[in-house]
Amino acid sequence: MSVAIYPGSFDPITYGHLDIVERAAAVFDRLVVAVLRNPRKAALFDEDDRIEVIRRAIAEELPPEVGRRVSIDRFDGLTVEAARRHGAGFVVRGLRAVSDFESELQMAHFNRKLAPGIDTVFFMTALEHAYLSSSLVKEIARFGGDVRGMVPAAVAERLQSVAAGWSADPTVG
Ligand code: ADP
Repeated sequence: MSVAIYPGSFDPITYGHLDIVERAAAVFDRLVVAVLRNPRKAALFDEDDRIEVIRRAIAEELPPEVGRRVSIDRFDGLTVEAARRHGAGFVVRGLRAVSDFESELQMAHFNRKLAPGIDTVFFMTALEHAYLSSSLVKEIARFGGDVRGMVPAAVAERLQSVAAGWSADPTVG
């Protein structure tokens, strides 16, 4: 059975990520979406919230046969350790542009050095999601823009309620 892990911050998950989840789930028997707890990166949503919206997005917006192959976990520390814990032989990452390539290449080499039995597999972004990033989505929401079409409904709802707090108190967020 082929198992892959898709690690990321997912703060929050976008349609770019969800598309990679669906495509990777068609290639591997099991896919673990692994939410990174990164103390060095200030996150808008805590891990529980990020996991909850990923769970809803998969249940509500992907076909059930895809959802059955996907699980969600959280991790900190090394990606390869998380992969080992899940018995994953592959790390899935997405590539949007040349600018992603350099750091992704370095990370793939680094992970291969640490764990030669675990390979990184890249999926090219779908053209319609090439411009999408979690930080762009947060910025749009912060200025009151409409993020539907960029993120799953579960995320749009959460961003809307967070943005309502920002407009009530412009000094936060
Ligand atoms: P990280 O902080 O680990 O980069 P992200 O949540 O930003 O976590 O991204 C996780 C993975 O998803 C990365 O491989 C990233 O390149 C990929 N990704 C992000 N946005 C998109 C997108 N719009 N299309 C395809 N892949 C994407």
